Amino acid sequence: MMRILIVEDEVKLARLIGQVLEEELFQVELASEGGQGLDMALSGNFDLLILDLMLPGMDGLQICRELRKEKCNIPVLMLTAKDAVPDRVDGLDAGADDYLTKPFAFEELLARVRALSRRKLLPEDVGNPILKVEDLEVNIETHRVRRGGKLIDLTAKEYFLLEYLIRNAGRVLSRDQIISKVWKYDYDTTSNVVDIYIHYLRNKIDGNFPTRLIQTLRGTGYSLRSNS
Ligand code: CA
Repeated sequence: MMRILIVEDEVKLARLIGQVLEEELFQVELASEGGQGLDMALSGNFDLLILDLMLPGMDGLQICRELRKEKCNIPVLMLTAKDAVPDRVDGLDAGADDYLTKPFAFEELLARVRALSRRKLLPEDVGNPILKVEDLEVNIETHRVRRGGKLIDLTAKEYFLLEYLIRNAGRVLSRDQIISKVWKYDYDTTSNVVDIYIHYLRNKIDGNFPTRLIQTLRGTGYSLRSNS
């Protein structure tokens, strides 16, 4: 059974999240203070951490940095009341794996938790920020991408598209979502830039491999397979 630690000082919200997760048969424990949360996360007793950004004691960013410094590779879903881009960048720099902005729908929370729980890092990647789906490896530090151990050369845009897909492996992403995250609204949503770049990426990532990782959901969007 998957064990999840929730570090959140809004006790009501923490309990609600806990209930929702327990209904999905996750095992849940709560911490409401930063230092206590860090100690519990470092105990090795948990498979996933849901971490609020603003906490008494030690904030979410500090906790995240400390975990990564200690070579603890537990997947971290950060909760933040702010949706500003700098906060997201700070969190990613600190080693968070995904974000959710308050207020959020519990369905969305569950989807993120499921995606993160499927995306387990290999032991040899501890301290090395590599996201892995099947035999595809994306190093989010060096931006190096390998499939089946073979280095794949991507342009900057192709890389950011792939990083967005793999961070959300198993989720369907609409063209609008992809444009707003990867192109930052430089393009209007009627353009077919996403389809064009998916085509480039697919040639490089899936072209010479029997298993196709990038999937098209007609009329809906795209998805990167998740580890089954
Ligand atoms: Ca808080």
